[in-house]
This record gives sequence, C-alpha cells and structure tokens, in this order.
Amino acid sequence: MHHRHRIYEGKAKIIFEGPEPGTYIQFFKDETTAFNAKKQAVIDGKGVLNNRISEYIFTQLERFGIPTHFIRRLNMREQIVHSVEIIPLEVVVRNIAAGSLARRFGLEEGSMLPRSIIEFYYKKDELGDPMVSEEHITAFGWAEAQEIEEIIVLAGRINDFLSGIFLSVGIRLVDFKLEFGRLWEGDMMCLVVADEISPDSARLWDIATNDKLDKDLFRFDMGGLIEAYKEVAQRLGIVNENRPSYPRGPVLVK
Ligand code: UDP
Repeated sequence: MHHRHRIYEGKAKIIFEGPEPGTYIQFFKDETTAFNAKKQAVIDGKGVLNNRISEYIFTQLERFGIPTHFIRRLNMREQIVHSVEIIPLEVVVRNIAAGSLARRFGLEEGSMLPRSIIEFYYKKDELGDPMVSEEHITAFGWAEAQEIEEIIVLAGRINDFLSGIFLSVGIRLVDFKLEFGRLWEGDMMCLVVADEISPDSARLWDIATNDKLDKDLFRFDMGGLIEAYKEVAQRLGIVNENRPSYPRGPVLVK
C-alpha cells in the first residue's frame, strides 16, 4: 500500500491528505471511546457502518441545501471530504432530556424538553470538552458573533430535517452533536457541517420500544451495538452493496 500522509488521528477517525488539493480522506476506525476516552474498545465493523450512515445523512443534508464537507464515499471505511478549518466547538442539539443534560439539571431521562436546546462545548480533550457560552466563544476568538448566529440557524434547520428523516423510520432523534468548518473559496468563506453524524454522535431511540440504537449501548455496557447500528442503517434504506459489510467468521450451515 502506498504511503499516505496522515494529517490527524482522533479517537474514532483518521484524516489523511486527499487525492486533490483542498481535500482530505476521512477514515472510520472501529475504535470506540466514551467518557472522554476513559472507556475504550474495538467493535468490529463499527467504522464501516458509521461511514455509510454518515454518508447518507450528509448527502441528505446537501439535498436539503445545507452545505457540508462531504464529497463522496471512497470505499467501505473512507470518504473524501473538503479540507476545512474546523471551528473548535461541539454544537449539541437536544430535543429530549438525556446524558449530561439530564444529569446536570436533574431531569428524568426521556422527558420532552419545552423546546429544542442548542449548547456549545469547547473541543479540547485535555479539558474534557467544557461547556461554554457565546461570550467565551467570541472572547477567546474561536468564532465570531456572526458565525455563531449562522451556526444556531443551521443547527435548528438540521435538527428539524433530521428529526423528520428519523421519525419516518420509527426513530426518535433525542440529541446529536455537530461540528462546523470554514470552507474557503477564494475570498469567500462558507460555514459547512464537518466531521460525522452517526449513532456515535447522536442518541437514537426506537419510537415504539424506546430501545437505544446508539453509542449509549457501549457507554453503559448494554451490548448489541453493531446490531443496533445495522438496524439504523437498514431503516434508513442503506443497502449493503458490498456484503459482508463487516468481518464475519465462517458460518456453519446446518
Ligand atoms: N456527543 C458527541 N461527542 C462528544 C460529546 C457528546 O458526539 O464529545 C454527543 C452524544 O453522543 C450525544 C450528544 O452529543 O448524542 C449529547 O451528549 P451529552 O452532553 O449528553 O454527553 P455524554 O455525557 O453522553 O457524553
């Protein structure tokens, strides 16, 4: 295999230099982490599923007129994306109380929020991604006030659109995390959705049973993560054109 220049390695993905200037290759690993990487595991096939699910969601967003960094999927684990200047924020959108919001305010997990809530966290592993306000963001220069405005509008539109997509396949979009990047075209700058949107970065509950179909299955050792991610992919109508989509041992035919 020819050597590729590695730009950045994160917990669940690796970014390589892309085939053309201004592009990166985003590689989805099977590594799974939670609680700021205090809990770690390798779950065979997870990267393949997230690559496909994220491809599907980004493609739908583009069709809806929301700009993203996504260009095209390369293979089972890789996609070509625009290289963007990442804004160091995790933008979390919530519809239902869960996770850290439920803990912080003593809310019962699963209770409907009075309205959707957008939160910002500073992307800094060493600090455990602390929650920040718009004051921190502008004072420390992570983004400009105008960009925050645009991010809030985009996050709201994305939430409405994705809530509808998931609702139509019997899944409740409880909360999810977005990252944004600056894409430069000459002197023009455009904010685009970057990173990934997958069951690793969203809470997805089955509408009928409230079963979790996301990374909480790993966070709380509930098992069945691959099956759940596969279920999400199947409901979204993502077909496995290159079967098997994840490594499988020999099957004994009875
Ligand atoms: N999230 C994420 N990356 C993070 C933190 C959160 O993708 O570093 C997602 C998480 O999967 C959930 C939403 O953002 O869908 C809200 O997460 P929460 O603040 O409840 O964090 P938790 O305590 O569960 O990490």
